[in-house]
Amino acid sequence: MTLRPMNIDPAFCFIGGAWVAPQSGQSLPLINPSDGTQLCEIARGQGDDIHAAVAAAEAALAGDWGKATAAERGRILAAIGRAVLTHVDHLAELEAMDVGKPLKQARADVLALARYLEFYGGAADKLHGETIPYLDGYTVYTLREPHGVTGHIIPWNYPMQIIGRSIGAALAMGNACVLKPAEEACLTALAFAQIAHDAGLPAGALNVVPGLGAEAGAALTAHSGVHHISFTGSVGVGRLIQQTAATHIVPVTLELGGKSPQVVFEDADLDAALPFLVNAGIQNAGQTCSASSRILVHHKVYDEVVEKMASRYSALRAGPAMADLDVGPLVSDRQRDIVQGFLDQGKDLTMAAQGKVVDEAPAGGAYCAPTLFTDVAPEHCLAQDEIFGPVQVVIPFDDEAQAIEIANGTDFGLVASIWSRDGARQMRMAKALRAGQVFVNNYGAGGGVELPFGGTGLSGHGREKGFEALYGFSMLKTVAAYHG
Ligand code: NAP
Ligand code: MG
Repeated sequence: MTLRPMNIDPAFCFIGGAWVAPQSGQSLPLINPSDGTQLCEIARGQGDDIHAAVAAAEAALAGDWGKATAAERGRILAAIGRAVLTHVDHLAELEAMDVGKPLKQARADVLALARYLEFYGGAADKLHGETIPYLDGYTVYTLREPHGVTGHIIPWNYPMQIIGRSIGAALAMGNACVLKPAEEACLTALAFAQIAHDAGLPAGALNVVPGLGAEAGAALTAHSGVHHISFTGSVGVGRLIQQTAATHIVPVTLELGGKSPQVVFEDADLDAALPFLVNAGIQNAGQTCSASSRILVHHKVYDEVVEKMASRYSALRAGPAMADLDVGPLVSDRQRDIVQGFLDQGKDLTMAAQGKVVDEAPAGGAYCAPTLFTDVAPEHCLAQDEIFGPVQVVIPFDDEAQAIEIANGTDFGLVASIWSRDGARQMRMAKALRAGQVFVNNYGAGGGVELPFGGTGLSGHGREKGFEALYGFSMLKTVAAYHG
């Protein structure tokens, strides 16, 4: 296979519908975390390139893209979604090599990207304003308008899914986008830009500027021509972005990860729960904002759950993305070192089981064996901090009140799930849990693009996915006409 996305040189930016060299002429190495080798070089975009991208987005808004009707935007998005589906294998391979995710996960991400475009293509002409009954002599109505240029800063863990949910919704509402992918994961973003262009997206409606967060990302956040910023990533950078956006009073959507619990009661269907308990922690090697990294279990079924989870963990295999095992490498040596730091802090804990890194895994890869800790105190850092690796902790509880206290006892609030057959308890818990999404007798509901998603507390604010995202990516204008 070619490493080049759609045969385009990845050391370029995509600006105004064309491949443009970064103005500095500099590039950055892109590493394959399965073996540590360099895949290619990518553009080191900086402030000048961001400026050119914002100008291209402004030109698109003043031109064909800004003039497109909602129905036309919807048709274009749907066409891009169909075009993505003709490139499933290529996109999946690019992503697997770039970020180390097993091929089946990468393929699932491509399908999710296509589904977002299908959904937002269909939704583009469905968000209407209202007429509001008011004083005699007035007609009042509301208009949904795009913000203008939207900035999108995304991480490396699910590039295609996050492009789908954020670029898809922003384009549906008529914004023009500037996307800064993570330096560790640019290839599918660049390939997507070409696919979208070929499928009919007007020049400048989507611009991609790869580069470092502290350079291209910071320049995008600070640019006075950007009217909305959507960020997914770490709490620290999210805080910085919100502060910088305050300079121009620009709205931000922040999706900053979590410490999401699954709460298993004594009346749960344990066999149904078990695959979710483990998979939600190790999917994408645990590098998932909505990963379930805490498993809270009622003391009556505690030993049984731990034993069953441990037996699954012992069978888990980590290896190269292309080997398509349970778990790939982490995205980088840096991420592996972060996770190893947490494992070191867990030295005094009870390790119930650990999966294996296969012998064929190249020595230069960023591997980490999936690890399960039990009897972890809720205040321990492994039960409080986002690890972003294949590590889960199991915590016992005695009753519903204590389960709520532990589940809500972190600074995060992204996702939670309840395993119980008791309907009244399901409803009480769903209300009591501090989270943007609560699942009952499942975890993640298959990741549905229709389901509004986002957090509270350190998990961030604003909602993406579903119809709700369209409100965030648009501005409401109220028109009050006096006619006597
Ligand atoms: P990160 O630094 O927050 O990166 C996310 C995005 O922000 C990347 O595109 C990054 O660019 C960019 N960025 C970095 N500094 C910036 C700045 N000053 N201004 C504007 N943009 C900036 O996350 P990370 O370092 O990759 O991962 C660290 C930790 O964050 C993980 O261990 C995990 O806990 C958390 N995380 C959470 C999510 C999530 O889905 N919520 C995703 C990823 C990471 P570059 O990467 O190119 O520098
Ligand atoms: Mg990479």
